[in-house]
Parts: sequence; C-alpha cells; structure tokens
Amino acid sequence: MNLVFLGPPGAGKGTQAKRLSEEFKWPHVSTGEILREAVSKGTDLGRKAKEYMEKGELVPDEVVIGIIKDRLKLEDAQDGFILDGFPRTVNQAQSLDKVLKEEGNSLDLVLYFEVDEEEIVKRLTGRRNCSKCGAIFHLIYNPPKKSGICDLCRGELIQREDDREETVKNRLRVYLSQTFPLIDYYQEKGLLREIDARKSEDEVYQKIKRVLELA
Ligand code: ADP
Ligand code: AMP
Repeated sequence: MNLVFLGPPGAGKGTQAKRLSEEFKWPHVSTGEILREAVSKGTDLGRKAKEYMEKGELVPDEVVIGIIKDRLKLEDAQDGFILDGFPRTVNQAQSLDKVLKEEGNSLDLVLYFEVDEEEIVKRLTGRRNCSKCGAIFHLIYNPPKKSGICDLCRGELIQREDDREETVKNRLRVYLSQTFPLIDYYQEKGLLREIDARKSEDEVYQKIKRVLELA
C-alpha cells in the first residue's frame, strides 16, 4: 500500500512506520531522517537544510519535493511505501499527487495521528534517538535497557537538536499553520483515517493494522 502518516511532530509516526515497514516490507521514507543524514554528512542538501531545521522551520518545498521524487523512483518503493513527515504543505501534497500520477500510481490511505499538545511536548522532550541505527526511544515511555545505549545496536542515544523545548514550540506553530490544512485536503479526497495516537504503542499499532485490513 502507498501510505502517508500525517500528524504533529512527536505523535509517534516514525515509531509506527518502522514497525509496519518491518512487517510488510514497505520502505519507511522519512524526509526528516534523509535531511538529518545529509546535515551530518555535510552534503549540499545538508547545507541547504541545516538552518531551517535548527529553527524548527520547514525546509523549502522544492528541496523536499526533489528528495521524494528521487526516492519514490527506487525499486523498493514500487510495491508500497510509508511516507512519514511528507507532505507537510498543501503544495507538497499537490506535487506528490502529480509525481504519483505520472507513474500511473496514487495514494491508498492517509493515517492521521491525533494527539494533544501536552502529550506532544512530553513525547518530544523525552525522545532519544540512536545515533547509529535511528531507533527511537523515550526516557519514560520506552526507555532503553541501559541508559544512553541503543538496545538494538549498542549505538549512542542522542537528543535531537530540534527536540529542545524552545524549538518544539516553534515546530508546533509551523505544524498548525502549514501542515494542519492537509487534514481537510485528504478528507475531501476520501483518503483520511484517524488514529487515536494517545494510546500505547501496541494499541496504536493494532489500530493501524485494523484500518489497513478494512481498506
Ligand atoms: P514522530 O515520528 O511522529 O515525530 P516518534 O515516533 O519519533 O514521533 O515518537 C516521539 C516520541 O514518543 C518517541 O520518544 C517515542 O518513543 C514516543 N512514543 C511513540 N509512540 C508512543 C506512544 N504510543 N506512547 C508513548 N510514547 C510514544
Ligand atoms: P521530522 O523528522 O519529520 O520531525 O523533521 C525534522 C525537520 O526536517 C523538520 O522540522 C523540518 O525542518 C525538516 N523537514 C522534514 N520533512 C519536511 C518536509 N516535508 N517539508 C519541509 N521540511 C521538512
């Protein structure tokens, strides 16, 4: 299936996308991860994106649309994909429709992860990511067995620069003004399904699977 995971930062999109990707073998395509890797490698793309990401602003549409166009052409995305963190503006959503249409393809479903602001702030400020394999942990909700060390690959756990409280506030503002309108956009196309993302990781995962089975 061709899926989009939509919702505020910290809603649990990446956590669920990784699990679903493992079970169904659809690639997990996160523009945030692609951009963070480019920044850490210091590529041209990384240099373009860095200042926006540090402030919690969106990277310009043409940059992320270019990334997605290239990524969706790859062999592993031909039998389904999970887009996480893209699209984030109506312009990005329209471009995605166009790119897919040119390939005779389209989206199957958009899952909207619903969660309140208080919980988002808790999830983002407690989030820790593995610097080696990208696994996602949380200091309280999903702590690693050994503090600061990834359970899966023993890499070092780090806090994302943009997960500090000042930047989190701005990312939420940006989400509400630029990404929230996508809910209507996909609702009108009949593609939107709501997921109560306040529930536990397992409950959210089971709900996603039920929604996919009904599609
Ligand atoms: P997103 O990709 O939407 O920004 P993440 O998947 O990175 O969000 O999750 C944000 C934080 O919340 C992480 O620390 C993760 O471990 C934690 N988390 C994810 N899902 C849940 C859940 N259902 N309940 C509690 N914490 C969660
Ligand atoms: P994420 O990992 O999805 O939380 O994204 C981290 C940051 O990467 C965002 O705050 C933006 O600066 C940038 N980013 C990721 N995806 C997009 C996108 N689709 N459009 C614009 N900027 C993006």
